[in-house]
Amino acid sequence: MLLITCPVTRTDELVADRRIRSVANHPTHVALSVECPSCGSVHVYRTGRRWEEARAVRAAARPAAELTSA
Ligand SMILES: [Zn+2]
Repeated sequence: MLLITCPVTRTDELVADRRIRSVANHPTHVALSVECPSCGSVHVYRTGRRWEEARAVRAAARPAAELTSA
């Protein structure tokens, strides 16, 4: 099960796994294409702690990266 917020109706929907159309793995996150029970269209959601961690790492690592490339 997955909790999503529909961008069309602005409601929170609990979605069954079988409504997940596709899962795409990216280095920083997983993109889920979910068939929305609220409005019937497909929404894409990013998920995974790595997405948030990668953002934090990029922000923290920027000064060090500039030093090594200079
Ligand atoms: Zn929707």
